[in-house]
Formats: sequence, C-alpha cells, structure tokens
Amino acid sequence: MRDTFLPFSKPCITEAEIAAVGDVLRSGWITTGPKGAQFESDLKAYTGAADVVCMTSETSVMQTLARAIDLGPGDEVITPSMTWVSMVNITALSGATPVFVDCDRDTLMITAEAIEKAITPRTKLIVPVHFAGAILDMDKIRAVAAKHNIMLVEDAAHALGGAYKGEKVGKKGHAMFSFHPIKNITTGEGGMFATDDQALADRMRSLKFHGLGVDAYDRQTHGRAPQAQVVEPGFKFNLPDMQAVLGIGQLARVDEMNRKRGYIMQQYAEKLNSIDEIIQLKQPDYEFTHAHHLMVVRLDINKAAMSRDDFMSELKKRNIGTGLHFRCVHLQKYYREAFNCAPGMLPDTEWNSERILSLPMFPDMTDQDIDDVVAAIKDILKK
Ligand SMILES: *Cc1c(COP(=O)(O)O)cnc(C)c1O
Repeated sequence: MRDTFLPFSKPCITEAEIAAVGDVLRSGWITTGPKGAQFESDLKAYTGAADVVCMTSETSVMQTLARAIDLGPGDEVITPSMTWVSMVNITALSGATPVFVDCDRDTLMITAEAIEKAITPRTKLIVPVHFAGAILDMDKIRAVAAKHNIMLVEDAAHALGGAYKGEKVGKKGHAMFSFHPIKNITTGEGGMFATDDQALADRMRSLKFHGLGVDAYDRQTHGRAPQAQVVEPGFKFNLPDMQAVLGIGQLARVDEMNRKRGYIMQQYAEKLNSIDEIIQLKQPDYEFTHAHHLMVVRLDINKAAMSRDDFMSELKKRNIGTGLHFRCVHLQKYYREAFNCAPGMLPDTEWNSERILSLPMFPDMTDQDIDDVVAAIKDILKK
C-alpha cells in the first residue's frame, strides 16, 4: 500500500505561473485589467470563439446568463440531472423550473432525442453537459434546438480543449467553462462565457460589472468616464488580474496537460479492462476530440458485493482519493421537496448515481500512481 495520500485531483501549476501572479501582486493593479484583457484574447484565439467574457466562476456566468435572457417563473430549463448542481440551482433561484432529462446509461450524456421529448411551449433554455471531457453530439442537439427555436448553451466545464468534428468547443454557439481547481485549467476560481453572438457578449460583459456597460479596466484605460452610469442593475463577477494571469500561463499549457490526462486515461482503461466489477464509460462513435477531464468508472455493486460509498472508503483506507461526479441532482433534498422529484424518474441517471466514482486523474500523476490505484482496486476486490 502507498504511504502517502494520492488526491483524486491536483492543480498543475508551474513556478513561472506562480512568479507571474507575484508580479501582478507587486504591480499596483490586481483587479481586472491588462491581464484579464489578455486572458480573454488568448481564450478567443484558442477556442475560436467570436467573443469571451471571463467571470469569477462558471456559476457566475450562469447567473448572469439567467438575467440576460430574463429567465423567470413559468420558464423551463432542460438539463441533465447527472451534472454539478450549478445550472439547476440558478434555474431554481430564478424562479424557473428545471426539467431533468435522463442520460445515456454508458456515455452519461443526454441525447438530442431525449431533449426533444422534454421540450414544451415553456422551454426557454437547453443546457447539456459535455461529460467528463467527452463531447456531446452537437449536430443533432443543435438541430433540435434550432427546430424549436430554443436557446442552447453548452455546459463545457469539462471540455476546454475538446472538439466536435474538428471544431473546438466554444467556437460555435454559446458555451460556459469553469476554471475551478479541478478543471482542465484553473484560475483558482473562475469561468467564462464564449459566444458567437456579439450583442449577447456585450450584455453579459455589462451585467457582470454592475450593469455599467464598462468594466473597471475600461474605465481606467479606454478614456471612459468614471462617472459611467448604470444602464441596468448588474452583478459584481469580474475576474481579477491576479487570477487571470494564472489562466494565461495555464491556457498556454492546456494541450500539453490534456495530452497527459489522455495518457493517464488510456493507461487506466487498459489496466482496468480485466476487472469485471469496474464498468468503464463508453466513448461516443462520432468524430470528436476528448478533453480528458475525469476518469469516471462505475462499480458493479452486485458483483463487488459492496456499495460505491464503501468502495470509496476502502480506497481511502489505502491512501487513494476519489471524487463523485455526480450525485444526481434531482434526488437531492431541495429538488425532491420543491419539484416533487422521486426515485424512478430517471432510471439510467439513478443507476449511475449509485455506482459512479472518479479515480485520481491530474497531469502530474506518475505511472507508479496509476499502478497504485489499480493495485488498491484489485486488493479491495480480492483479485
Ligand atoms: C465545475 C462545474 C460547474 C461549476 O463551475 P464553477 O466554476 O465551480 O462555478 C458547472 N457545471 C459542471 C458540469 C461542472 O463540472
């Protein structure tokens, strides 16, 4: 057994990135400024998006979006339940109703067919998730959204660097990304909205900074009056330069880090292949580039004669950390009570929710770390 704890995720940060943060701290300008502007322009160049707006988290992006599209009572938002809680919470906070769609049992993504069945005259927004770095079947999903004239925004928290049919996620339509420490790149906390709709980008940019129509940096450098007025009430979600500068360094290495993640996932896939208690995800068969965000597997709880939670604690006893992406949202306390969600509603989501776990996966992991995880799994399952 290994003698040090292996976390399930760990940010990969270089000394040069740390020094760059230090430089910003010493520079006299630590909030949104030149580094924020450069990070946004680097993100545009990388994704091919017409415009990007950075904020303090992806959840802030969602809250700003909800305001920008006037999401409110009577509106429905189509979302998976196999996701992080952010979009569902923002939907509920807006007074709108989340409409949960079951995921595919083996890719954990929602399909165009399932989305179309969930559409009603009240549907205002569709937010599918590129799960674990695999990419949704966007041609089909875009066709359904267009046919019914409903806004589609991709939750691309797991998908920076991923591509669909040769096109980077974020280039077309609207997508939201996260720079939380476990994601493919980090700014400590942070997020971005990428869009090909300039009017929407401008509105998001204004709403994320008090609704002034300009942000702190613009006011200082672009000759706009500090007396700028509120055009409409907005939030305070601008990403400071001390964080943006970390993002600049991280983004320059995202392809390299994703390659390492891809190697680790490949190693796991091969080494776990012979263990029938471990059910791996199925990869979609259309053309896409995986962003290799999470190594998600399912435990066959019957064959293992053990619950997933017990399996996770057995791994922890062997110094192996794990994550849970995700406990389904619709059966969490608030959603059961406020929206009458009950077990049985989403069979494939619930099946996975009881069996899923994420194995350690981060760019600095070594071959020995991977072998330690596999050995611990075999030890628990008495292989
Ligand atoms: C991480 C994550 C979010 C939230 O991102 P934050 O930047 O932490 O707000 C939203 N959706 C999914 C699927 C995520 O994994």
